[in-house]
Amino acid sequence: MNPHLNEILAQARRGIHQTPTYPGLRHPAIKGSLDKATCKVEKIERYAKQHPDFNWVSVAIKDISILIDVDYATTARSMGMPIPEDTFLVRTPRGGLHIYLWWTPACAGLKNCDIYHEGKLVVEVKMNRKTCASPGVHRTDSEPQGWYEPLNDHEVQPIRQDLIDWIKAHTDKREVSYKKKLEYHPEFEYQDWIDHYDLVWTGKSKVVNSVEYWGLGSCPFIGRPHTNAKWDCTCVVWGNRIGISCLGCSDKGIQDFRELMEDEDIEDYPYYVYKFEDPALCVNKRIANLFEVEEL
Ligand SMILES: [Zn+2]
Repeated sequence: MNPHLNEILAQARRGIHQTPTYPGLRHPAIKGSLDKATCKVEKIERYAKQHPDFNWVSVAIKDISILIDVDYATTARSMGMPIPEDTFLVRTPRGGLHIYLWWTPACAGLKNCDIYHEGKLVVEVKMNRKTCASPGVHRTDSEPQGWYEPLNDHEVQPIRQDLIDWIKAHTDKREVSYKKKLEYHPEFEYQDWIDHYDLVWTGKSKVVNSVEYWGLGSCPFIGRPHTNAKWDCTCVVWGNRIGISCLGCSDKGIQDFRELMEDEDIEDYPYYVYKFEDPALCVNKRIANLFEVEEL
């Protein structure tokens, strides 16, 4: 038996939905597993008996639970983040923090979002179908390997207004989306991203100002090709950031695409897209090391 199954069960009893993933992983990888997230202890026990070596993730459920993944607690505090101490907290192998909170109606308007500081992803706010490795999980899929360790046994608390305000004040997607020039992760493949969102590449591409455009067989915003459209009417743009451009929907962009995917309950692409997101890559090691030892 998984020696830390008791932590998974405790998490379910708190009311935080659980779903399995493959051994060593910290993100969901089993097809359809997000839809099967559950708080039912018997279900989890039954599954764990069949797959004793599987890992588990906690899932943020829309309008119920919020998971806040603080990669760099010291930086977050220096940005004024009011980190609640009275709710259930977990320490990550890299010294970060997972904060579990209940959604409240005061969260209206908040969505899944990332908070950056100087190009570094500091806080991920997970409101809907986003996950964190569960307490008690041991990860081996990236360095440093290690345990997700509960820091207390508090009940999950409702999110407070000061934290909601802080999140809203620090979410400026346009700034992070367009200003910074980013490198793609060496293992990231365009086709994989296209496949994840069930888009269809026509196989045609063009390069404009050294940015690559891939034609799509259908416009995601209208769910079909535009009438009389040329092959490059709707494109994925592999620029400094991934973009979507459609001549037929000139007012739509990648942010609209993200929202569309969220509305359709399609999870975000779960792997690294950009190099800077991966702490294991040396380009960021220097930065990662600076924040590796964190005080709580
Ligand atoms: Zn379109």
